Parts: sequence; C-alpha cells; structure tokens
Amino acid sequence: MTSPPLAPGSTIGIIGGGQLGRMIAVAAAQYGLKVHIYAPDANSPAFDVAGTRTVAAYDDAAALAAFAQAVDVVTYEFENIPRRTAEILAEARPLHPSAAALATTQDRLTEKSFVADLGIATAPFRAVDDAAGLAAAVADLGLPAVLKTRRFGYDGKGQRMLRPGEPFDAAAVMESLGGQPCILEGFVPFESEVSVVAARTADGAFSAYDPCGNEHRDHILARTLVPAPGMDPAASAEALAVARRIADALGYVGVLAVEMFLVRDADGRAHVVVNEIAPRVHNSGHWTIEGSETSQFAQHVRAICGWPLGSTARVGAARVEMLNLVGEAAGSWEAILAEPGRHLHLYGKGKARPGRKMGHVTRLLPPA
Ligand code: AMP
Repeated sequence: MTSPPLAPGSTIGIIGGGQLGRMIAVAAAQYGLKVHIYAPDANSPAFDVAGTRTVAAYDDAAALAAFAQAVDVVTYEFENIPRRTAEILAEARPLHPSAAALATTQDRLTEKSFVADLGIATAPFRAVDDAAGLAAAVADLGLPAVLKTRRFGYDGKGQRMLRPGEPFDAAAVMESLGGQPCILEGFVPFESEVSVVAARTADGAFSAYDPCGNEHRDHILARTLVPAPGMDPAASAEALAVARRIADALGYVGVLAVEMFLVRDADGRAHVVVNEIAPRVHNSGHWTIEGSETSQFAQHVRAICGWPLGSTARVGAARVEMLNLVGEAAGSWEAILAEPGRHLHLYGKGKARPGRKMGHVTRLLPPA
C-alpha cells in the first residue's frame, strides 16, 4: 500500500546543500511545502532558500535522527550518501528514492550489472580490483577502454581513458586512481550523448521529458538541447522505454536521469546504450524550469509527496537550450540579463573556481 499524499504545509527534508537542493526547495515553496536542508558546509547554496537547516556531517547519527524527526519525507540531491546514512533516515521517515535504489546506482559495477541484467544495452564491462585484474580485463575487452572507480566518480573524476598504442602499466594506472575497486568499460563509439529525465511515483505512474542532447566540455556538461538532435521517433521511444524499465525495476520514487550514448547500427538506425543512472534531479533537466509545463524539480516534489505527476510537455518553444555557467562564465551575468529571452539562474556560490557550476541560462528556441 502506498502512503497517503503529503498535505501542503508538510516539510521535505533534503540531504545535500548544492544547487540541486536549492532548486528543489524553490519548487517546494511554490506548492506551499517547507524544506529542511541537511548539509555539512555552513555555506551551502541551498541554505539561502531553506526555512530550516542542519549543519552536520553525513555520518552524524544523532543529527540525522533529529533531522528525520523534524521532517515528513526525506530526499537527497546527490548520490554519494553513505549507506548507513540512508538506512538511518529510512528507518525514521519515508526516504525517496529508496536506500536500495541508492545502493544500486552509487556503485558503477552494481549499476551496470543491474542494467545489463534487465537486457538493456551497456558498454561491455569487467570488474577490476587490482593490477592483475586490469591486465586481464584489457586483454579481454581490448582498447580503447575506460577505467572508472566504482564509487565517488563524477564529472569525469575517478576515470582514465586507456588508448591503444600508448604505454600501458597496469600497476601505475591503478595507482593513479588511488588503488580503488574499478570497472573497465569498452569504449562506446557514440554519435552523441543523451539523457532521459523521468519521474515515477510509488503507485507506478511514470512520466518522462523528451530525451535531452548533452554536450560536455572538460567532462562537465556544457550545453543541453531538447529535443536531442539525431534522435528519430524510434530512438526516442527506445530511450523512454529503457528509462521506464529501469525506474520500474528499481521501484523508483522521484526524478531520475538515465545518461545514454546514441549509437548507430550497421543499417544506420539509432539506438541507445546506457552509461549511468543518476538517482536524483539532473543538470540536463534544468531546461524544464522554463521549457516545460512542470519543471523536473516540481515533478520530483510531486513524486516524493505522493502527488499526481505533472505534464512534461514543452511550453512555448519547439526547442530549448540550456547552457551551464561554469567557473568565470557566470561573470557575464549582466550581459546575459541584457539579452531578451535568456533566463538566468545563479546558484549563489561564492567563488568561481574553474570547473565549478555557478549557474545556467535557458533559451526557448524556434524550430531548427
Ligand atoms: P561518466 O562519468 O560515466 O558519465 O563518463 C564521463 C564521460 O566519459 C561520458 O560523458 C563520456 O563522454 C565518456 N565515457 C564514459 N564511459 C564511456 C565509454 N564506455 N565509452 C565511451 N565514452 C565514455
């Protein structure tokens, strides 16, 4: 049985104080919900828009228990939450997405095995625990290949590209990734990178936005364009069906993003290969704030509160573009404001360090 919907006035507890938590909090406020944000850093950007805050470490059991008591439902805005933290929270309050969904998606090996077991295409992969394992996996999969740490990787951190013809010292490569347990993936010769941002409720309702086309720079998302260029209706339908199968199999509640590679088969037909699952709202879904009937943040709030999902139709535009403002790029905020049709979002972060996501800009565009 699913729990009754939360009433407006209820409090959502959010673990994590970054821009994603901040935008969830803003969406919650629109619906008359309160938020309580839990983050270890007193300068967290989400605190600016939160009614209540807890500044404590993610493994502070007493602070977690007190936080859980003070809220009606708990969610999170990043996936590298310790397992015990998720369990403590879930013992006290509904945790969406669940601790099990988190466990499956925060380890790349568990995640890829889970996706492959559903019969969904992934890069070929092997578990790698040490230098001998790496040498064996390379012999098995061939090069090029990508070695990734199983946990705590993001924005290209914790991974190494291994190219044919380059000197290869398995021990040195493992050392460069801190000797951590890894996964070796065969290189996918993709045409482009896409994502599906979708939502599922506890009673199985599912809704997805059109696939997003994503361009990265220095391993960080730079631009999202919707609908994703190069995807015909059959490939889009395949991508949405894959996202739904994953969400259903996880018993997922909330918004998730499935990052995929778009590849072409010998007959020139486009297909998707799943790269990874983000068990949270996602950077490639920021365009939905202005570009869709329901933003991904509002959709997440609806899903975790047991409310009906909103429409994911685009509004007012054939295409939508989102540009990330990374590092110093946010310094051009005045010029962006001066251009009609640009929707500026700044995350309230202090210093613009290289690679730091400071904000984003959305534009509603006419047909290509
Ligand atoms: P990830 O951290 O898994 O999202 O990977 C970061 C980026 O590395 C992806 O966005 C791709 O551009 C590239 N990449 C990761 N895995 C593969 C793969 N198996 N084949 C080709 N490119 C990859």
